[in-house]
Amino acid sequence: MQLEQHLKNLILHSAPINMAEFMRIALAYPDYGYYKSKEPFGVKGDFTTAPEISQMFGELIGIWCADVWQKIGGASGVELVEIGPGRGTLMADLLRATRAVPGFHDAISISMVETSDRLIKVQNEKLQGMYPRIKWYKNLSEVPDKPVIIVNNELFDALPVRQYVKKADKWYEKMLGLNKAGGLEFVIARSEYEAERRGNQALKINEYGLQRVACNEGIKEGAILENCQDAIILMQEISARIKKHGGAALIVDYGYNKPEYKDTIIAISNHKHVGLLENIGYADISAHVDFSLLKQVASDMGLQSFGAIGQGDFLRNMGIEFRAASLSKNATEKQKQDIESAKARLIGNGDMQMGELFKVLAVVGDNLAPAGF
Ligand code: SAH
Repeated sequence: MQLEQHLKNLILHSAPINMAEFMRIALAYPDYGYYKSKEPFGVKGDFTTAPEISQMFGELIGIWCADVWQKIGGASGVELVEIGPGRGTLMADLLRATRAVPGFHDAISISMVETSDRLIKVQNEKLQGMYPRIKWYKNLSEVPDKPVIIVNNELFDALPVRQYVKKADKWYEKMLGLNKAGGLEFVIARSEYEAERRGNQALKINEYGLQRVACNEGIKEGAILENCQDAIILMQEISARIKKHGGAALIVDYGYNKPEYKDTIIAISNHKHVGLLENIGYADISAHVDFSLLKQVASDMGLQSFGAIGQGDFLRNMGIEFRAASLSKNATEKQKQDIESAKARLIGNGDMQMGELFKVLAVVGDNLAPAGF
C-alpha cells in the first residue's frame, strides 16, 4: 500500500512515469521495494529459480567456471563474480563442486554483487565457512579489476524496461499515470517516443532501441517494443572487463533470441500471475530478456558470444544426465524420484519446464571456446 501511495504522489506532483521507473520503484524502492522487503524464492515464496530446484544447476555451472579458468591459463588472480546471487545457493553448490579441481580455489577470489542488504545477509550466512575470500559489492563497478569469470541467473529479467507502442507507424511510450478518480492507470504518451516532461532527466530512447524501432517492416499496429537501458549498461561493463583482462561471462535467464515486439512484463506473487498494479511491492515484476541485444552489445565491444541456447541443451552438454545418475546411485527411491523430477524441470521442454524458455549465453575473451555450447 505504501508504494501505491508513493507512486500516486509522485505522478500527481510531477507527471506520468515510464515503465522502467515503475519497475525500479516496485522492485527496489528503499524499505518497501520487492527485493528489499520480501523473501521471493522457493515453495513458500513467489517463484522458484533453477539453483533452488536442484544442486545440479550450481554444480554444473561450477564445472563451467573451472573449465574457463583452465582455458585462460589456470593462473591465480582471477575474480569469480556472481551478480544477483539471491539466497547464495548457486555459489554454495559451485564451490562444493569445484573443491576437487586442483588449484582452482586457491587461484580465485569471489565477489558477490547484490543490491539488497537483506539478501546480502542471507548469502553471507549460507556461505559462512565455505570460502575464505568473499566480498560483497552493490555494483559491478566496485569489483577489483582483474581477469573475471562472471555468472548470473535470473538477473537481467529483473532490470527495468521501457515500452513503446506502435500506432499509425509511430512509436509512443507506455507510461503509468492517474485516472480521473486518482487511481493508477497505464496510459500511452501523447508525443512520439517520449512524454517529454522532466526535461533532460528523462532518457531518450537509446541507440539500440532506435535500431529496433527503425526496422519497422512487418511490425504490426499495437506491437510493443521493449528496451532495457540497464541491460545495455551492465553488458557493456561486463564486456569491458573481459575485453581488458580476459575471462568469460555466463548469463542464464528467460527470454528470446529475436525481439518479439510484445509486452513481456509480468508480475508474479505466490507462484501465480497477478496484475501489475495489484499489491505493488509484494509481487515480483520481470520482463523477458532480449538476448539479441546482449549479443549485439558484446559484439560492439569486440567480444565473441556463444548461444543463447536452451538451458536444457546447455545442461545436457555439461553432463546433467551423468550427474543425476551419480547422485541417484546411493539415493533412496524417494530421493531418486526427486532427482528425476528436478532434472526434468531444469531441462524439459514443456510449459512448466525451463529447458527451452530459459536460455544460456556465454560472452568470452579472445579465442576462448567455452564448455556447454
Ligand atoms: N540468482 C538468484 C536470484 C535471482 S533473483 C537465483 O537464481 O536464485 C534476482 C537477484 O538479483 C536478487 O538477488 C536481487 O536482489 C538481485 N538484483 C536485482 N537487481 C540487481 C542489480 N542491479 N545488481 C545486482 N543485483 C541485483
